[in-house]
This record gives sequence, structure tokens and C-alpha cells, in this order.
Amino acid sequence: MALSVFLLLSISICFLVFLQDLLLSVDAQSYNQTQPSVTPIDYDLYHSSHNLMEEIRALVHRHPDKLTMETMKAANKGYGADITVVTYGKEKEKNDKRSKLRILLSFGQHGRELITTELALRILFILSEEKLLPSMDQASLNSVLDKLVIKVVPMENLNGRKVVEAGDLCERRNGRGVDLNRNWSVDWGKKEKDYDPYEENPGIAPFSEPESQIMRNLAMSFEPHLWVNVHSGMEALFMPYDHKNKTPDGLPLKHMKSLLEEVSHLHCQKRCMIGSGGGSVGYFAHGTATDFMYEIVGVPMAFTFEIYGDGTAPARDCFKMFNPTDFATYDRVLSDWSATFFTIFKLVPHQLGDYSKASIMKLDRLVSIDEYLDGYLMERRNRYGKKMEVLELGMQEIRTYFRLFLLSSVLLLFMFCSRISKSKCSRPIPSAIPL
Ligand SMILES: [Zn+2]
Repeated sequence: MALSVFLLLSISICFLVFLQDLLLSVDAQSYNQTQPSVTPIDYDLYHSSHNLMEEIRALVHRHPDKLTMETMKAANKGYGADITVVTYGKEKEKNDKRSKLRILLSFGQHGRELITTELALRILFILSEEKLLPSMDQASLNSVLDKLVIKVVPMENLNGRKVVEAGDLCERRNGRGVDLNRNWSVDWGKKEKDYDPYEENPGIAPFSEPESQIMRNLAMSFEPHLWVNVHSGMEALFMPYDHKNKTPDGLPLKHMKSLLEEVSHLHCQKRCMIGSGGGSVGYFAHGTATDFMYEIVGVPMAFTFEIYGDGTAPARDCFKMFNPTDFATYDRVLSDWSATFFTIFKLVPHQLGDYSKASIMKLDRLVSIDEYLDGYLMERRNRYGKKMEVLELGMQEIRTYFRLFLLSSVLLLFMFCSRISKSKCSRPIPSAIPL
């Protein structure tokens, strides 16, 4: 009887294992068929981080009258980072810098957004006059640039970029897994319901990361009038705030809004979203650089620009999602956005006028910006794409648990059966001879 139960159970378990393997193989086949191939980095179009920095070094070396370069270093708990800063501006006398309008631009804060660092290089080429800007003649460009000191951070997240170049094409965080655009102190560490540590890990504390420390020190000492944090993933012109559905009020809003509207009108052909990051993108971002620049450093014009996104790219195809993959688009993005930046350089002095930081900070009241919202489908789509990956990971765990369950069932069955047979064998044999 026990033997037949054992056999029946064994056959059932074998059948279940077979069924599971069959399902898994069908699942894997359909997964392989539906899973699109991932686009690799095209090094015919894009510079490696090493080549990009070498190109910039050589450019600065060729134009010492226009460009200077420094490398800032910081380290924390065994993790170090270097950030190269290129400065454009003819410093005629010691206090000259303070009388000019100061601009700070950062590129490549997220490793996977390679197109942004290419834009940094393009802008530096135009500043050096080795490349021309088709939309502006050199004389009027020079008269614009005479009034400015521009600091360009061509690759804020060099360590994270190296992770991407080593094959992790979806990595946006720094070399030890912290999102550098969540590591700043304004509203730091707050997590939304759909928080994903793979994307938005804010670090163990505000400014825990050397890269953020360097950028904070740079901004605090330079006190820029204009800050632009350049990203990709969509096309948008964002002003503060990222952590709530509000913009600043009063004069700052007037300045920033009219500048962005002008830029959008000239360069975006209605493609770009305009508004606060938090109000427009479809989720709130806590601890961002732009919110810190506006609220703490007091930068009157603080922006985040998103310069390119491919909404049709599959969720795992990050290189394609964040970067153009053909020469025509690559070149169009760089030409359009470099023209955009030089338009901004021309407009900012007019927009700011008799700017006074103190008066602007006093007007820091908040209003809703619902009227500027223009939809947020693309970024939402990206978020959904990530959720699908999370779901797939969940299925893998369920499969593992199912296998463990089957294994333990088999073991229990063996123990049960061996106990039955043991109890049978150890039963005392009736003695034929009484004592
Ligand atoms: Zn980004």
C-alpha cells in the first residue's frame, strides 16, 4: 500500500517537474523571440570617455587665450572622483570675472546619456572658434561672449560612464551606484511609491558622493547666474522645482518662463515640454542639482534640459532610448542644441536685466504650473518599461521558489517513505518458540 502511494506521488512529482520545465522552455523561447536585441554603443559616432577627455584637453591646449581647464578631485570612504572643468572667458583684470555674467553647464551627470557629453564637446569647439555656428555670425557671437564667463563640466559622472562603456548600457548612477541627481540636499532622500533603487538611489546622506561635493563647491564659489543640467531621455526645458508640482513665483518665474518660451519657439518646434521638472515629467525627483542651485546657491536661472529621447525604443535598449543611433539624428541634435545654448547666451543678459539675487530670493513664493503642462507620455512610458523589468525579475523569483518547493516535497516524501518501510522492518518477528 505504502509503496503504491510512494510510486503514485513520485510519478505526480515527475510530471509536475516535467510540466514546469516544459513551461519554462516555452516561456524562454517566446521571451527570446519577443526580446529585441540591444543596441551597442556606436563608437563611429560617439567618443569613448577617454577619447572625449583627450579631445577636450587638446582643444584647450590649442586655445589657451580662450579656454582653461582644471581637474577637481574628492573622495569619500574609499571612493574617489575627478571632475574636469573647462572655463571660457577672457580675464582681462583680476575682478573682471565678477563683472561678467557667469554660466555653469553640466553634462553627463547620468552615465548612459552619451549624447550630452558630445554636446559639451560641440559647444567647446564653437567657443574655441574651431567650429562655426551656422545661425550666428562670428562678430555678433564674439560680442555676446565678451560679456560672459562660461564654465563647462563636460562629463560630471566619469566613473558611471565607464560602467556604461564596460557594457552596462542602462546605468545612470555613479561608480558606486548612487544617482548623482538625487544626492543633493533639497528634499533629499524622500522616496516616491514607485521608487526604484536601480535608478534613483540617493546615497547614504546628502552630498555623500564626491561628484556632488565637487559640483556643490564649484557652484558655491562660482555663483552662476545661469545653471543648466543637461540630460537625455526626452525633449524638455525644465525649471525648478523637481520635488514638487510648483514653480517659483514672481520675477524668477517671469525671467525663466519667458526665456524658455523664447528658446522653445526658436528651436523646439513644439517638441519640448516646458514647466517645472516635478510638474511636467510625471513624477517628483527629490534631491536634484537644479533645485539646490535655485534654492540654496540662489542661481536666478536654473534649468534642466532634456535634449533627446527615443520613445519607441524597447525598455532594455538604453543606448537607443537615450542617444541618437544614426549620424543624421546625432548631428541634428548637436547642431540644434548648440544653437539653442548660444541663443540662451545671447538672451540671458537681457532677461536678467538689473538682476539682484536678494530681491529674487525674497519673491520665492510658490504657484501651481498646471497651465504650462503639456503632457508627459514619454517619460511615463519609460517608467512603465522599468516596471515590466521588475515584473520579470519577480517571475524569476517565483520560479526559483517553485523549484525549491518541489525539491523539498521530494525530500519529505523520501523521508516519509523510508520511515514507513523502516517501521515495517523493525516490527518484532513472532517467535516460534516460547521461552
Ligand atoms: Zn538623466
